[in-house]
Amino acid sequence: MTIRFTMDKITKDGDPVLRKTAEKVSFPLSEEHRQLAEDMMTYLVVSQDPEQNEKYGLRPGVGLAANQVGESLQMTAILIPSEDPAEEDDEPYFKGVIFNPVIISETVGRVALETGEGCLSVDEDVPGFVPRSKKIKVRYQDEKGDTYEKTLRNYPAIVFQHEIDHLHGKLYYDHINKAEPWKVDDNTKYV
Ligand SMILES: [Zn+2]
Repeated sequence: MTIRFTMDKITKDGDPVLRKTAEKVSFPLSEEHRQLAEDMMTYLVVSQDPEQNEKYGLRPGVGLAANQVGESLQMTAILIPSEDPAEEDDEPYFKGVIFNPVIISETVGRVALETGEGCLSVDEDVPGFVPRSKKIKVRYQDEKGDTYEKTLRNYPAIVFQHEIDHLHGKLYYDHINKAEPWKVDDNTKYV
């Protein structure tokens, strides 16, 4: 596995590419876009391996959007580890690069990570709850251009919403209540 993206390649908050709506990706994928998808996923795989991430100095990530490596394209790599890491079969919960994703339905009920969210493009953690829809249905294309619909709940739903936000120029702290960042809302559960 050749790693092409290291921390110095990750675009940082303040770079205008993170605030632009990304362009749709067309199919069949160009060789350039196929390679980009592979390199984005490689970053995530290596970053989640404790030995390798130290070797390359990578911050662990579960998602990496194309604009986080400077490409304003509707594609994001997602690698969500197995829900039960104690299980022998540690197939990831989700591993794939998704293209042109759209949230087609979402619940009013919200969830937030108890510790707040983080982002590879935001060096200084912004504290506070990031309320997200508890359950979403997302439509996206895979590398072949085939269309899928997937329902996600709780943590995986949070990850997908964080990544899809990137493709629309949003960052997680945009959702934090500035006046009361840790305010508990009746409609929000914490995971
Ligand atoms: Zn992010």
